[in-house]
Amino acid sequence: MSIERVILAKPRGFCAGVERAIEVVERTLQRAAGPVYVRKEIVHNPHVVSALRRKGAIFVDELDGVPEGATTIFSAHGVSPAVHASARARRLKAIDATCPLVTKVHSEAIRFAREGYTLLLIGHAGHEEVEGTMGEAPAAIRLVQTVDEARAVQVDTPEKVAVITQTTLSVDDTRAIIDALKVRFPTLIVPANDDICYATQNRQNAVKTLAREAEVLLVIGAANSSNSIRLTEVAEDAGRRAYLINDASEIHPAWFEGVTCVGVTSGASAPEHLVQEVVEALKRLGATRVEERELVREDVSFGLPLELASAASGGRFGKEPPVQTDVHRVDADEPQPGRHRPPGH
Ligand code: SF4
Repeated sequence: MSIERVILAKPRGFCAGVERAIEVVERTLQRAAGPVYVRKEIVHNPHVVSALRRKGAIFVDELDGVPEGATTIFSAHGVSPAVHASARARRLKAIDATCPLVTKVHSEAIRFAREGYTLLLIGHAGHEEVEGTMGEAPAAIRLVQTVDEARAVQVDTPEKVAVITQTTLSVDDTRAIIDALKVRFPTLIVPANDDICYATQNRQNAVKTLAREAEVLLVIGAANSSNSIRLTEVAEDAGRRAYLINDASEIHPAWFEGVTCVGVTSGASAPEHLVQEVVEALKRLGATRVEERELVREDVSFGLPLELASAASGGRFGKEPPVQTDVHRVDADEPQPGRHRPPGH
């Protein structure tokens, strides 16, 4: 028996923050007089980075590699105040492509730290977003990565503790960590809607839905893409085999022995053409039907940074367009007729 059906998750792929970050680089390349530098990968996907490099962007790991005064873009994951200070010291023309939903977490960190709270940041050590957020209030923030760490973390004033999170975590794991923290700190302040972003939540819920039918799931995304890794884990937690692949070239036919239905999704930084190439590869392996399960329609977009928004409107300086946050979330296990928009609407 070979593959018969492929089911595509929807939503999948680019989120509003990634689309905005890519647009920031493309517009800057169009209008900057000199070279355009980008600190770190603009988003965690080698195909996106290569495409922008071909258009002229120069990617650097740190600002030391950028000549004084040059145009420099900060990636979607956000940067710490120390990076902003370093950019100012080098008189760089900095353009910040940080996702507004990451910026929101930075603002929470600053506010709570000012009010004397200890902040417990749920996230993964070493991730650029975590480094950027911790940099906002290093003395006040403790990183918590697991339930065990939640049970052990020590703070000076247990009655003044608040939680913030990385935006691309597992919804279920984060809930378990917060529950453990609430036992330790009964007055714990938790964000009303946790900091895990709409795109991460929707893609995880879509995978849960897919895992009911698909025996194997392919997640298209980079090995350093946090939200993509989480999608693989969600599928595995649902009892399915899941593979994180960069693109169709990494598919192994042996994965599909005895498998009739394959699910496909992509992380928030993976371009759609990679999905279509994977579908074509699965067709070559025998798939004859390709379906899409739309769990929820996303309708989110973010305005460009001020410098670029003004260029888009034709003026030297303009008002930053409003952030549209028409965010739709559903829980995979609950029918949500009122929040579901049929395709085409
Ligand atoms: Fe923003 Fe979420 Fe996309 Fe990250 S995954 S860029 S937080 S919308």
